[in-house]
Amino acid sequence: MDCLFCKIISGEIPSTKVYEDEFVYSFKDIAPIAPVHNLIIPKEHICCANAIDESNSAVVAKVFEAAAKIAKEEGIESYRIINNCGDDAGQTVKHLHFHMLAGVKMGWGPESLGKTE
Ligand code: AMP
Ligand code: ZN
Repeated sequence: MDCLFCKIISGEIPSTKVYEDEFVYSFKDIAPIAPVHNLIIPKEHICCANAIDESNSAVVAKVFEAAAKIAKEEGIESYRIINNCGDDAGQTVKHLHFHMLAGVKMGWGPESLGKTE
């Protein structure tokens, strides 16, 4: 399959590994927007949050289990997990992934969506 993140999981494309288990893989985002910016992805190819159903939803729990382990390993107490689903939300890679951001005080509100009024 011609999928960037599937190629990262298989090792065809290099990445800086953060964590791996049977179900998920985590690596450093190549263009970090915070001091800590990990991506956590299921090993199974799922295009996006919209494709989650009862047959595959267990991997989402595995993603959050991995996040908690990574946080402990990296000594992170506070973090934000973001999933972009679809073009308007900014999803550029069509393999389900969760951004794990930490290391900076983060804002919240309309400004974070790029709204100015
Ligand atoms: P999204 O915009 O939510 O689809 O997130 C895709 C993320 O993948 C972006 O934050 C990119 O910086 C990141 N990314 C793209 N290519 C690579 C790569 N080869 N290694 C690590 N991260 C990547
Ligand atoms: Zn994939």
